[in-house]
Amino acid sequence: MSVTNKVQELLQTHKLSNTSCRRDVLKAFLQNPKALSHHDVEKLLNFEYDRVTIYRTFHSFEEKGVLHKIIDNEGLTRYALCSSKCDAHHHHDKHLHFSCKECNETICIEGIAIPDVILPDGFKLEKLNFLGEGLCRKCSK
Ligand SMILES: [Zn+2]
Ligand SMILES: [Zn+2]
Ligand SMILES: [Zn+2]
Repeated sequence: MSVTNKVQELLQTHKLSNTSCRRDVLKAFLQNPKALSHHDVEKLLNFEYDRVTIYRTFHSFEEKGVLHKIIDNEGLTRYALCSSKCDAHHHHDKHLHFSCKECNETICIEGIAIPDVILPDGFKLEKLNFLGEGLCRKCSK
């Protein structure tokens, strides 16, 4: 499937109206298989859209289950495409994220699931960051 078709499909599946900013942001994610920050995407799109538009787009994508948030090894917020199992208000991205200290890229490692965390009585878990740090395949050679 071409990137353009994939973009159309994602917007339709998640019931998102088709705007040029949404199309371009999705394209940026489909063409870069790694976690991207707001700023990364602004840069990839040659600053064609203002910051507020980009933020809003990320926000609706997160809300609709298209992108999930990742806090990288430097505490920077990045996003990556969700698996097809995510939908509005239900994310299922319970996998390891990995930040490479050499190339600074953060990626999803979907094959490694976050183990179930059972907290002591009285705690209610809302978020859990499962992040590995080290060298990626490219950089460890
Ligand atoms: Zn998700
Ligand atoms: Zn690396
Ligand atoms: Zn992920």
